[in-house]
Amino acid sequence: MSSNPYGGIEAGGTKFSCAIGTSPGDIQQIIHIPTTTPSETLSKVVEFFKNNGPIESLGLAAFGPIEINKKSPNYGHLTSTPKEGWRGFDLLGYLKEKLNISIYLETDVQSALRAEHLLGAGQGIDNLLYITVGGGIGGASLVNGHLLEGLMHQEIGHMFIPKLEEDKSFDGVCHFHNDCWEGLSSGPSIETRWGKSGEDLGIDHNAWELEAKYLAYGIVNALLVTMPERIIVGGGVMKNEGLIDKVRLNIYKMLNGYIDLPSLTNLEALEKYIVLPSLGSSSGILGALMLARSES
Ligand code: ZN
Repeated sequence: MSSNPYGGIEAGGTKFSCAIGTSPGDIQQIIHIPTTTPSETLSKVVEFFKNNGPIESLGLAAFGPIEINKKSPNYGHLTSTPKEGWRGFDLLGYLKEKLNISIYLETDVQSALRAEHLLGAGQGIDNLLYITVGGGIGGASLVNGHLLEGLMHQEIGHMFIPKLEEDKSFDGVCHFHNDCWEGLSSGPSIETRWGKSGEDLGIDHNAWELEAKYLAYGIVNALLVTMPERIIVGGGVMKNEGLIDKVRLNIYKMLNGYIDLPSLTNLEALEKYIVLPSLGSSSGILGALMLARSES
């Protein structure tokens, strides 16, 4: 092992977080840079690592969709992101050229899953589903200790789910599908449907019953496909008080006893099966750092 520390980048739609450290317990430097244009944001990212280096290698946890197939000529390029100026951008290539070090890539959601698995709410569990509900909906799965990916990374947020009768006049907010899961249940969908952000609605608003039903639909579908041993549901929307309990109750009702296993038998068991993350908003950057450390 080298004596140089590792670098991590969590590249998000609103900010890029950059960290340098030898381990999650030893973060030596961290900064947050607003996501504006690729050249403006990335010149500051490069400057940070050049000024605070040398580093051994870098883990890149990127917003997506991003090409993660190493055999593709577009490996490391952002693909169909609606984010202005970033669509098609060669994020990995740009950073490699400017920093000239080994860079390991995964999605921000995969990095958050990695950190929760190694340090947080999923420790010791090798079949794990991580879902984040915020500006969009993202998901990643660990299957027998390996990230589930094939043609590309998972895109759980764009599953199609039934639209509820009481919500039929709402079109949804996904730029590609309108009323896919993310289109009906992400933070922006709440704000568009009710005219207020989730945190301004108050905990008694009937928005949360609808939200819990929609989240349960998607989670049940992902559960039935990947059969995780635990599900971690995070993101800004899940910070609304009581929502996780409503989601669990709806999942319990939807499954209707079909999966006859102790972890799903009753609501008390579901409290251990469907949990909030324990690392909060730092999971992405910690995961990126641990990716660099594990691959080096
Ligand atoms: Zn969609």
